[in-house]
Amino acid sequence: MIQNKTINSKEVFITEKHHHNLIPWAQYRNNNNRAPLVFIFDHHMDNNEPFMSYAYDKENMKHDKKKVQIELKKIDINKIDTIKDSISKLKNDEYIQTALKINLVDKVIIISYDSFNDTPRSFEEKKYQNSFSQANNFIPPYPAPVRPFTYPDSNIYIPENRCAVGCTRGPHNDDCVIPHYNQCIESVLLDDKLKIIEDMNSTLITNGKLNEKYILDFDLDYFHTKQSINPNDPKTFYSLIQDAEIITITKEEDWIKEWVKQYGYDPNLSVNYLIKRLLFHIDIATK
Ligand SMILES: [Zn+2]
Repeated sequence: MIQNKTINSKEVFITEKHHHNLIPWAQYRNNNNRAPLVFIFDHHMDNNEPFMSYAYDKENMKHDKKKVQIELKKIDINKIDTIKDSISKLKNDEYIQTALKINLVDKVIIISYDSFNDTPRSFEEKKYQNSFSQANNFIPPYPAPVRPFTYPDSNIYIPENRCAVGCTRGPHNDDCVIPHYNQCIESVLLDDKLKIIEDMNSTLITNGKLNEKYILDFDLDYFHTKQSINPNDPKTFYSLIQDAEIITITKEEDWIKEWVKQYGYDPNLSVNYLIKRLLFHIDIATK
């Protein structure tokens, strides 16, 4: 179920489905006093509540909260078997909220292509949005606020990722899609996201580096083309690899197949290629 590799003393774990990564996260957690931060690269936000699917009460068409509590209570992070049992009842988009609720992880950062707005939403944007909904027409009541913004507290941070950094098309359109995907681990994109996260919580990041111990986590569906995993400027990406405590990778092969067959982003993209290139970057970054 889990492949383990050591690359220049960096521990790397490879799984099939994203929620399986809870196992290496728990193993790390059990060897350390503090729950770590997890820094995730994922096409999706995977932010559903624990056991949404398992605890869905079909008869009454609602989420059975008692059943959720029972399942959460069964998990003892010191006992890997209880983690494995929970994995069999979780979907691949419910593991983040689960990991936060059982104190397996302290905070989560996600760089995602599903993120059209910052999570948490800034005070400035919320106020702007509210003034829109109060107005009875579509004329903006005042100019849209510009960064830097201020934010409420949160334990989950997902910066806005609507288009490539520096894209001047207005509005963004289909021509933006591939350039945006190809920028996914370029320093220009990562530096932009790290700056937003620093604005969200200034204690998290200093000079582009994370202050907390963190697990670096990849869902391979974050990569849509072969070029996307061959950045021109990997400086920030390598720095994220170097400072990570451990690295976890999930294949999510069905999604990669979908990028190739359904969407046709790159006919030559494959899980094997992405794994090979990602391990290559980890090797170079940690040498
Ligand atoms: Zn664009």
